[in-house]
Amino acid sequence: MALETYQLTKRFGSFTALDQVTLKVAPGTVHALLGENGAGKSTLVKCIAGFHRAEAGSILVDAREQEVPNPVAARALGIGMVYQHFTLAPGMTVAENLLLAGGQVPHVIDWKRKRDELNAFLASTPFRLDLDARPQELAAGEKQKLELLKQLYLQPRLLILDEPTSVLTPQEADEVLGHVRELARAGRCTVLLITHKFREVMAHADDVTVLRRGHAVQHCAVRATDPARLAQAMVGDAGAAA
Ligand code: ADP
Ligand code: MG
Repeated sequence: MALETYQLTKRFGSFTALDQVTLKVAPGTVHALLGENGAGKSTLVKCIAGFHRAEAGSILVDAREQEVPNPVAARALGIGMVYQHFTLAPGMTVAENLLLAGGQVPHVIDWKRKRDELNAFLASTPFRLDLDARPQELAAGEKQKLELLKQLYLQPRLLILDEPTSVLTPQEADEVLGHVRELARAGRCTVLLITHKFREVMAHADDVTVLRRGHAVQHCAVRATDPARLAQAMVGDAGAAA
């Protein structure tokens, strides 16, 4: 999916959280949205995913302007989102969590057929998880894999990850993001990766947009960028003086 926002503005009362933010995400890429805490990253993706409505500007999916009044509308457009915090049902197995994400009620389904289907689904992804494990038995990295699988199960065309590595070790983060990149490369989905970790952008993203205090201040291909300038764009002149 090609995703664009055009001059998106979002205010909370008199505070302008996003000021005419234009973002262009190319299909099949991992596009990083980089910025410090409070830069407006989550606000931007919440507008795209239908949790907030912008006061001005537009959202374009495959070059067509779209209204995204609520999360259901975002889902219908093929937009899926993984959050920083986990949203797993603790008493349920990996298999049951997946079925629940797909809107299926675990106890009224043909279990044998579903298991085969879930195993085939798992095998089609880079993620390896035990269908019978329960979230409380999983390490943080595995929990985040399950969150990703819950979204992938719905076959999104755009996967938004809002700081998916914040509770992971650097090793877990690299593994998960490496797999995310494989998914994008394989044409499975386009990925918008929100992070404040500069290192993750350099290691795992194709393109990057830097957000600073509600403004998109830089947009470039990661390979073509000067890391020092990118880091500078994040913090601005105040950061340079400090
Ligand atoms: P980031 O995800 O980059 O850390 P956010 O998008 O969460 O930043 O927040 C950007 C700014 O908007 C912050 O100053 C934050 O306090 C403010 N903000 C975010 N959500 C709300 C809200 N629902 N009401 C009021 N202010 C908000
Ligand atoms: Mg945030």
